[in-house]
Parts: sequence; structure tokens; C-alpha cells
Amino acid sequence: MYDIGIIGGGTAGMTAAIYGQRAGKKTIIIEGGAFGGQITSSSNVENYPGIASVSGSEFSMNLLDQAVKLGAETAMEQVTGIREDGSGKVIETAGKEYPCRSVILATGVTHRHLGVPNEERLTGAGVSYCATCDGMFFRGRDVAVVGGGSTALQDAEFLSNYCRKVYLIHRRDEFRGEDSIVKRLSGKENVEFVLSATVKEIIGDQSVEGLTLNNKKTGEEFKLDVSGVFIAVGQIPKNEIFADVVKLDGDGFILAAEDCVTSHPGIFAAGDCRTKEVRQLTTAAADGAVAALAACKFIAE
Ligand code: NAP
Repeated sequence: MYDIGIIGGGTAGMTAAIYGQRAGKKTIIIEGGAFGGQITSSSNVENYPGIASVSGSEFSMNLLDQAVKLGAETAMEQVTGIREDGSGKVIETAGKEYPCRSVILATGVTHRHLGVPNEERLTGAGVSYCATCDGMFFRGRDVAVVGGGSTALQDAEFLSNYCRKVYLIHRRDEFRGEDSIVKRLSGKENVEFVLSATVKEIIGDQSVEGLTLNNKKTGEEFKLDVSGVFIAVGQIPKNEIFADVVKLDGDGFILAAEDCVTSHPGIFAAGDCRTKEVRQLTTAAADGAVAALAACKFIAE
């Protein structure tokens, strides 16, 4: 029997494991994909207090290492559900069951798609949701980044170091992401902002050859020749399988406030998967600590 079963191996989940282990609790982190979470796709993290600059993958690997060295167990399995069972809860996966006294949901979010023609068909053939993973394949070529948040800005900056030309396409004429990056991008000769524009269609037979865009102000349709398009239009939660145990809001986020307490006693929610205003690395880490300490208190009651 684990004291704390953590579902999700991103920043929130791994921080929860560190706090759980340091409180003397037996913890396990169950991750369905790769440990590290979203931040592994960030080429450079510059807003985590105390660390001026670090790659997302180095940051998350350090976190995992720290949790494991403290004694946290890990399992790479897709969770299929949670149920109450006498003295505790049981986390169910396809092949196994993990009995736990408490559970922390730290499932994060997944990439939102644009939903335009050919997006799904050309994913992996020029359409990408991760510039740091796939950017190198586009060295010396012309690419587009879609989105106006911090991820899109960071992606455009990263790609500008390898690609001949980077078009940054945003549906409004103001960016949502950090001003400091916008300023740096404005000074780059190979970066061009394409504002108040939406993608109507991705063009290409075997791979991406271009985009059809729509200028929202004039209604004009125009084309851009690019061989890659990096889509960074935000994230959506993936909590459907927990809908029978915890309450979700209309957008699918787990209803929980700053105390990380959900509608189900002994189940806590940490990080981007819960209802919150600010989804940042710092707030994910903070949630991990809060949820783990709340779980310790629940176990002791
Ligand atoms: P985000 O902040 O939600 O931004 C999504 C962007 O995509 C927005 O500009 C939005 O436009 C646009 N968008 C949404 N749906 C669209 C659609 N259907 N078509 C076209 N454009 C669409 O997402 P994010 O940039 O991935 O960032 C998520 C969170 O992670 C944020 O809190 C961010 O600050 C944080 N983050 C932190 C770091 C770091 O280094 N610490 C790095 C990356 C991200 P509108 O602006 O018009 O809504």
C-alpha cells in the first residue's frame, strides 16, 4: 500500500513526490508517456526563481533524479481509473493495480490542435507541436509558428537559430506571451510577425508545402510557402477518465482551489490539470508541495 499515489510525472507530480518522500511517506509516480511533462519541450526556461537559465529537459531530469534519490518509486503505465476499496483507493492501469491511501492527480494538459484541413494527416510530415523536438529537421528552411503565448514566442526564437525564415502567425495584433521575448524577436532579421491572421488550411501532399491564411481585418486570403508549421496554440486538459471520481469544470479542468482539494476526499489535484488562473512552472511546483502536504494530513486524520 502506497501512502501517496501520484498520477503524472511532470513538474507538479515530481515535486509532490519530493515533498511526500521528505515527509517520510511511501510514494509512487505513475506516468503514461515520458517523465518530465510539458516543460521538457521548452528550449530555455528563464523564469524559475533561482535558476537564471536552464533547458526544460535538464530541469525536469534533475527533478526526476531528486525524487528517485529520495526514494520515490516510478511506473510507466497508462492509468485507466481510480476506485475506492475498503481502507483506501486503488489506481488502476491496464495491467496492474496500485493501492494507495491518497492520490494526487497531476495529469497536466495536452496540445490543442488548430482543427484545420490536413493538420492531422501531415502531423509528423511538417506539422509539429514541439519545436525543440523537431526544429532541427528544418535547418535552413522556411517555417511558421502559430500562436501568441509564451510557447509560440519561445518556439519562434528557438527556430530562428536554425531556420532561414520564421513566420510567427497570431490571430490578434498583440501577443499574450512575455514582452521580453517579443522584443528580442522584433530585432531578428529572419523573423516576421504575421498578425491578425488565422490559418485556414495546411497545404501539402506528402509533406507540408505551405499555408493558406486569412487576414482577419481585411478578409483577404493569402498563402505562405513553408515546409514546417509548429502549432503552439495552448493546451487542453485530459481528465475525462477521472470524471466519475472528481468534479470537473466545463472545460475539463479538475475543480480544486489553491489548497488542491478536489470534490473527493483523499484525492488532490496539482498543476495545470486543476482550475487555476496562472499555469506556470512555479505554480505547478507550488501545487506539488501543497498537494503532497495535504495528502500527508489526510493520511494522518
Ligand atoms: P497560452 O498562453 O494559452 O497561449 C495560447 C496562444 O494560442 C494564445 O496566443 C491564443 O490566442 C492562441 N490560440 C488559442 N487557440 C487558438 C486557435 N484556435 N487558433 C489560433 N490561435 C489560438 O499557451 P502557451 O503559450 O502554451 O502557454 C501555456 C502556459 O505555460 C502559460 O501560462 C505560459 O505562460 C506558460 N509557459 C511558460 C514557459 C516558461 O518558460 N516558463 C514556457 C512556455 C509556456 P489569444 O492570445 O488570442 O487567446
